[in-house]
Amino acid sequence: MRRRFDLKVRRKMSEPSNIFIPTTRDEFEKWIYNHPDGYVINRKSRYDAMIHFGHCGHFKHSDQSASLTDNLKVCSTSLEDLESHWLDKYAIRLKRCKDCKT
Ligand SMILES: [Zn+2]
Repeated sequence: MRRRFDLKVRRKMSEPSNIFIPTTRDEFEKWIYNHPDGYVINRKSRYDAMIHFGHCGHFKHSDQSASLTDNLKVCSTSLEDLESHWLDKYAIRLKRCKDCKT
């Protein structure tokens, strides 16, 4: 029993627990509502990614039809964890948002 439990824990460790990747717009909007001071990376294209605060106006007026799979969002309450996870996984240089001043 113990062995099985250990394996499960180890597999879960591969993605830090405070990294949230929403798969639907509903999940994303719920997250930014609950974490207005959290950080969100918005990937617009393969080489274009920007980091925002959850409360940034960019998300409030975003195109409702834009899909989250084309327009990847990665969320976290820790800027440090978010950036290191992002660089590990996607290796795209992050721009800072001029509006919400991340
Ligand atoms: Zn912003």
